[in-house]
Amino acid sequence: MMKKKQNNSVQKYPIVWKKNDFSIKIFCSIPNIATGILLTAGKNHFIIDPGDGILRDLSKEFGVESLKNISHIFVTHGHHDHLGGVWSLLTYLRVMNKTSSLKIYYPSGCVEIESIYHAFTKVYASNLPYKIELKRISEEKKFSVKNVSVKPFSVVHKEYVANTNKKRIVPALGFNFSFDGKVICYGGDTGYCDSLAKAAKNADLAILEAGHEESDPDEMHMTMEEAQSIGKSAKKYVLVHIPD
Ligand SMILES: [Zn+2]
Repeated sequence: MMKKKQNNSVQKYPIVWKKNDFSIKIFCSIPNIATGILLTAGKNHFIIDPGDGILRDLSKEFGVESLKNISHIFVTHGHHDHLGGVWSLLTYLRVMNKTSSLKIYYPSGCVEIESIYHAFTKVYASNLPYKIELKRISEEKKFSVKNVSVKPFSVVHKEYVANTNKKRIVPALGFNFSFDGKVICYGGDTGYCDSLAKAAKNADLAILEAGHEESDPDEMHMTMEEAQSIGKSAKKYVLVHIPD
């Protein structure tokens, strides 16, 4: 029987971290089901990994006006548990008559978000009050969105090829978000990798997945021990994406 994993860094959702005007709220991060994260810097709100349920969670969080003002979404990779809520969110913003543009940042090669975008803009070609801008990230270069500095970094994530035991690489990113002298590192889904270890080091908060159930490491998810070893180099860390 598998031993039940115990760790003080594992918390119940939502997980909230806040330093002055910089905060992050992880509504959930449940493997194969859904992730949903809200980043707030001053008056600006950003969505990270809008999995299923993101519209419900944001609706509870905000009134319609604040939701309509959301201007940036960050997607770490194309798995359904990280972007399954995109269609309903885009549709809601259309129905509520959003007029300001919406930018979606995602890793180069993430066909899922591009497919959703193409289908959505086709369906609502003559009836879309706001502009959606796809921002494909192909370089690990720092950039700014509103008052936040964003540093993407490549991580190692894989998926099974259907009906086989073979795995293939999934384009996947983590992000370091900086505001007001504080850094939040979010690794997304990843196996242990140097780029994440580097990005998480000295971060004020590192959000690390520990989704791998076995003790032997693989290139899909981190073991609890791997995630903890990276987390300890940050000022604080939380473990997410842990199987029940
Ligand atoms: Zn994944």
